Amino acid sequence: MKAVRIHQFGGPEVLMYENIPDPQLRKDQVLVRVKACSLNHLDLWVRKGLPGVKLPHILGSDVAGEVAEAGEYISGFASGQRVLLAPMHFCGDCAKCLAGLQNQCREFTVLGNGVDGGNCELIAVPAANVIPFPDSLDFNEAASVPLVFVTAWHMLVGLAEIRPGQTVLVLGASSGVGTAAIRIAKMFHCRVITTAGSDAKLEKAKALGADFVIDHYKQKISEEVRKITSKEGVDIVVEHVGAATWDESMKCLKSAGTLVTCGATTGPNVAVDLRHLFARRLRLLGSYMGTMGELHEVLGHVFAGRLKPVVDRAFPLSEIRAAHEYLEKSQMFGKVIVNT
Ligand SMILES: [Zn+2]
Repeated sequence: MKAVRIHQFGGPEVLMYENIPDPQLRKDQVLVRVKACSLNHLDLWVRKGLPGVKLPHILGSDVAGEVAEAGEYISGFASGQRVLLAPMHFCGDCAKCLAGLQNQCREFTVLGNGVDGGNCELIAVPAANVIPFPDSLDFNEAASVPLVFVTAWHMLVGLAEIRPGQTVLVLGASSGVGTAAIRIAKMFHCRVITTAGSDAKLEKAKALGADFVIDHYKQKISEEVRKITSKEGVDIVVEHVGAATWDESMKCLKSAGTLVTCGATTGPNVAVDLRHLFARRLRLLGSYMGTMGELHEVLGHVFAGRLKPVVDRAFPLSEIRAAHEYLEKSQMFGKVIVNT
């Protein structure tokens, strides 16, 4: 099959489009013919080098495609059935997995990070990862959903305990997690404030449903939030930008507000003033992916049309280097796809 592999860590030039043997299908797995795979910032981190990645390695966390073949022990799938993949790997029988807390499993990793991913024509995965999707979504839309929607759902619903009527600040409207968080917060009838770096992106954020938009290059986020909320601040901040916005995000919280973070795109080292943390009773929460239960819960809303993915553009798998450069320069609004 055709696949994109990395044999060393580095820039987009290490992505090699090449012929490799088809994966061996285990009896408890399903073989899926990949049609679309969306990119995440994680792909850039893995390409640049993360611990635990064995070379050569196939990137790609978010897969949509068709069932090619089901292993001997697997029933309930038809050849050609349209499916998306849960973007996570877990053991399935430890205490955490059995409690439904797959993202706390010691073997937990993201598809395309600790295990080979979907930048290829065929992928074999456990049946639990294979989820049929309805005709209302095309392959590119289906591949845009899993990682960012389960991440945003775990952050807002699982951890921050979002409630109708709250005010939510979502950093980085143009990112995959940003668009998903805006959609989810609006589904909960919340007031959404978001940030982006150009007029065109601010317009698109409004079209997604954001009530207020802030240009993070031209305006000071905390000052605008103070004006919008009559000095009160927001209930929840959805962070993933990291060092560049951390101080501003902390200033935007109301008393007893919650900041939940799942990323550090602009850098991992930030300062926390402990006096503010305790005196203002703030909650700082770290989030990594989500559980299989949460994935199925959020997919239910996507399949019913209550939550919609945002697809920016698609590249052929053979042009994946251009897709990485496009994501790296933050030119997108929503998800970037590669098609096999
Ligand atoms: Zn486990």
